[in-house]
Amino acid sequence: MSKQTLSFQAEVAQLLHLVTHSLYSNPEIFLRELVSNASDACDKLRFEALNNAALFEDTPNLEVRVSFDKDAKTLTITDNGIGMSEQEAIDHLGTIAKSGTKDFMGKLSGDQKQDAQLIGQFGVGFYSGFIVADKITVESRRAGAQANQGVRWVSGGSGDFEVETIERPARGTSVILHLRADAEEYLNAWKLKSVIGKYSDHISLPIMMEKEEWKEGENDQPGAMAKTGEWESVNKASALWTRPKKDVTDEQYAEFYKAISHDHEAPLTWAHNRVEGNTEYTQLLYIPAKAPFDLWNRDKKAGVKLYVKRVFIMDDAEALLPSYLRFVKGVIDSADLPLNVSRELLQESRDVRAIREGSTKRVLSMLEDLAKHDKHTTSEGADGVTDVVDADDQAKEGKYSKFYAEFGAVLKEGLGEDFGNRERLAKLLRFASTSSDTVSVGFADYKARMKEGQDAIYYITADNLAAAKNSPQLEVFKKKGIEVLLMTDRVDEWALNYLQDFDGTPLQSVAKGAVDLGKLQDETEKKAAEEAAEAFKPLLAKLKEALKDKADDVRVTSRLVDSPACLVVQDDGMSTQLARMLKQAGQQAPEAKPVLEVNPEHALVKKLDGSVHFHDLAHILFDQALLAEGGLPEDPSAYVKRVNALLV
Ligand code: ADP
Repeated sequence: MSKQTLSFQAEVAQLLHLVTHSLYSNPEIFLRELVSNASDACDKLRFEALNNAALFEDTPNLEVRVSFDKDAKTLTITDNGIGMSEQEAIDHLGTIAKSGTKDFMGKLSGDQKQDAQLIGQFGVGFYSGFIVADKITVESRRAGAQANQGVRWVSGGSGDFEVETIERPARGTSVILHLRADAEEYLNAWKLKSVIGKYSDHISLPIMMEKEEWKEGENDQPGAMAKTGEWESVNKASALWTRPKKDVTDEQYAEFYKAISHDHEAPLTWAHNRVEGNTEYTQLLYIPAKAPFDLWNRDKKAGVKLYVKRVFIMDDAEALLPSYLRFVKGVIDSADLPLNVSRELLQESRDVRAIREGSTKRVLSMLEDLAKHDKHTTSEGADGVTDVVDADDQAKEGKYSKFYAEFGAVLKEGLGEDFGNRERLAKLLRFASTSSDTVSVGFADYKARMKEGQDAIYYITADNLAAAKNSPQLEVFKKKGIEVLLMTDRVDEWALNYLQDFDGTPLQSVAKGAVDLGKLQDETEKKAAEEAAEAFKPLLAKLKEALKDKADDVRVTSRLVDSPACLVVQDDGMSTQLARMLKQAGQQAPEAKPVLEVNPEHALVKKLDGSVHFHDLAHILFDQALLAEGGLPEDPSAYVKRVNALLV
């Protein structure tokens, strides 16, 4: 077979350029990435060999070898894992199959520092070798293939790569890095061991290096370290989650997280447990500090790896956690599942259901614990008792708000998805309110501050905080000093459909149905409202007639103070916002007409009756109410004409 020269897929070339130009600051991660690929390749072999033991050939002991050649200035990472065929080398090392790559490329800003952070999250994998090497040679043979079916892949990391068929008796892959002049520090056993210790100690395979010993120089030559031909393991080679908690340091937990998540930032918190009972498993679950760039990607996978009795089974096992916890990273190692479990089987397994329930509860407890220790987001302790804060508690301070800013919107999906945990989830939610600009008010805080006689938790949904805060529907609540939760996440309205009450107190949108302030309204106010309704009957009828194409009903309201009118939806209706959002997203929204409510105290409303401009004023009133809540009049130019006619 002759050599062929092929071009990298355009995205790969772009990625390569980025890797070599933006990851200088932390070059040593290349070793983590390559060792991790080597370890994955061994995991894959072990998994395929479950059904085909012949793949082990005559070397069943899986391992990774790291060696270097000072003269040739090469560093080599060799594994005896699954290996690659020629076509696989072309496909896997020349194109990017990863989902989300396009999105990722789109996010790049051109600003090196920012992009370096992003790329850290994305996980550069194999290409990180080019941070330290100006040429990479990969030699590989797939397990089960003939010795003459080996492949050599060579590239200088720009434009193209070469492949040719070679003779390779050994199964698996060698990645040979031809180091740049400024990366020669990796031609040193001590340096390599320290980097491996830092990033790869948790890898369950032995990572072997050749032992060296001191050799005295001869004939006046200085002494030097010399290879002995004997290999030794330089990592602990026990999967981190199988070790007892007390033997694992926080740094090791954090490094393990970085290795499995490709995140460069340490996690916010984690939980490591062995669960015993009917279903036995070990869970090591992490809450990241930053949302990944593809959190909202529709086919974003869950972040938990499944192992069975320490054998790696699959990445992104979505059956292990509900989708609203897709930000959680970690490992679950089951003692009960069969090794040949498939994704389909996972969906049906009773053990998996138990693991999923247990892990969900574990994540919720982690979040509750963070919330409890976040002064800004809880009113606990408001009874005047100061909690005793220990060092550990202090470390958790402020973390819940951080978590919530990144993942709060995802967590809300749980209200619709996980009925069993709805109450626990509701307690974890935080909102801005008319008393707090920061997203820090929980339902419990709100309830603790409710006015005497108030029997509902009031909220409003809007596109953004400013729109929510200035919404006319809030006027009477502001006047009476009643707190209203301001909800501005897209999912809020949908999620709240699933939450009728909190701890026995109903949730009430201030933009739905007639205002009923119940006991908060005194007798004189109630009487005045009834009288106004009576007195306005003829006017309302006229308005209703004028606006019959736009409004479902017209009525007087006591919810307005400064504004002449506002729109509300019927009790069981979908808010105008949600309807608008659905339409923008190209989806069907029910064509329900809103109710126009007018303020009987407002000068404009008082002037309406008998005005020669009645028809125009009626339409302006309606369109203004729409504008005030961030909507657009159906016919903006008609609106402008009407206003201008009046102005003139
Ligand atoms: P990732 O590992 O995240 O998929 P990489 O760029 O690191 O991305 O690797 C791309 C692909 O190349 C891998 O998915 C794998 O199929 C293949 N590969 C990389 N290194 C090895 C190896 N040591 N042995 C076998 N296959 C490998």
